[in-house]
Amino acid sequence: MQELVQLAEGCGYLPGGVNAGVVWAPDGRAVAVDTGGDREAGRNLLRAVQARGLRLVAVVNTHSHADHYGGNDYLLRQVPHLEVWAPVFEEAVLRNPYLEPFYLYGARPPEALQNKWLMAKPSAVHHVYPTGDGELQVAGLMLRVHRADGHATRQAAVGFGPVCYAADSFFGPEVLEKYEVPFTHDVAGQLDTLERLRGWPYEWFVPGHGAPVGRPDLARVLDANVRAVRQATERVRRAVGSGATADEVVHRVAEQLRLPPTNPSTYFLLRATVMAHLTYLLEAGQLSWVLDRGALRWLPAAD
Ligand SMILES: [Zn+2]
Repeated sequence: MQELVQLAEGCGYLPGGVNAGVVWAPDGRAVAVDTGGDREAGRNLLRAVQARGLRLVAVVNTHSHADHYGGNDYLLRQVPHLEVWAPVFEEAVLRNPYLEPFYLYGARPPEALQNKWLMAKPSAVHHVYPTGDGELQVAGLMLRVHRADGHATRQAAVGFGPVCYAADSFFGPEVLEKYEVPFTHDVAGQLDTLERLRGWPYEWFVPGHGAPVGRPDLARVLDANVRAVRQATERVRRAVGSGATADEVVHRVAEQLRLPPTNPSTYFLLRATVMAHLTYLLEAGQLSWVLDRGALRWLPAAD
């Protein structure tokens, strides 16, 4: 059984493909920060919490990607009176998981896209919280919330004691190395979050994916993330070349990846990220777009 790793008094996490945070009070009341992608992740989390003699009373989800709230359904069934907290806007997806494949695809998605990677089981949401920086009292524990949008529309990072559960506001270097183009909804927001993160007052930063980063290593890891985002923008700008449709741009970017998409789900995740970079370049005045006999073509901006 995977055990909770303690980082500080009352602060730990369960390592996994998606890290789940756990914070607790001296009387044993525990709050999870995200729950992993599925029933098994939920079960592992509950077992690890109980093995430490803690009592799970609430879940705070950081954002609505299926791999971060997919354990909620199991936990809600197993733990009476469990309370789920979700950020404003993101909460709609927890209640209606169909929204994720729907927004990635743009219409009713084919059944093949309505899978567990893009769509977790729905979760009740008992409390919707704002994602501006501030305090959040959850089951008697005083958490801090930090706006961490960019990767997702209204993602939050959650702090307790000296530990920041940063969700997908940054990725571990090993994860960046593997996937190269980090998923994003809003590039400017993502870069802004990466800058603001440097000033958050914690000793430990636990990303959703990757090992916890201590304060002395934080700048190096954030620099690597900024580099990856900027390289992704540059890949997209180069893929536009002298002009291309969005699908041509996606194809050209994919061709250069060590791990190009191998199924429709990963294709649409990459496509959404490419679209975010196209928006960013358009709004920075580096690209324009034009309708050319029914084709929407992206073009380098005229000087
Ligand atoms: Zn995510």
